[in-house]
Amino acid sequence: MAAEDRTLACTVVAVRVSVASRLQILPAPLKIWRVSIDGDALPLSGGCNCEAVRFEVHAPLVVAHYCHCRRCQRRTGTAASINARAVPGSVRILRGREQLRAWKPEDGREKWFCGACGSSLFSTTTDFGDPIGIRMGAFDADPGIRPSARFFVACAAPWEPIPEDGLPCFAAKRRRVPAAGAGT
Ligand SMILES: [Zn+2]
Ligand SMILES: [Zn+2]
Repeated sequence: MAAEDRTLACTVVAVRVSVASRLQILPAPLKIWRVSIDGDALPLSGGCNCEAVRFEVHAPLVVAHYCHCRRCQRRTGTAASINARAVPGSVRILRGREQLRAWKPEDGREKWFCGACGSSLFSTTTDFGDPIGIRMGAFDADPGIRPSARFFVACAAPWEPIPEDGLPCFAAKRRRVPAAGAGT
């Protein structure tokens, strides 16, 4: 679908303000950014770099956000990770289940990746049969959702400024304050 055919279901007025003034400590409703995609866009598809692992998502994604925590920085080698939440039960692993590996921090979710090529794919609280978080970069095409917030900006990399894109920023994760440096 051409970019001009996509419409934002939620219009957000971008206000150029500093990150400090955007910082939100108390829970507040997040604007969910959705992009209209063709009805036949479902199921969404994705996979890892070596193609050993392939998956599908059979329901529209719920929400997406940036995570600037140190774990995401180390896991990805970048300044932040973009993760989308899937409806429980909507994700199917088509192949490569035997290639999936996970790292489970004591105080965090399981982080699943391809054991052959190292691509980050999911985060879960149970097992990889029911992923609840999908790394946005793993999708083959536009997954139809946009990040709605930035979490763990207190841990943001000093070498990449937080962009002034109007998204609400949270020092840690919404609704709770974990130990310093911890994240999703
Ligand atoms: Zn792979
Ligand atoms: Zn994180």
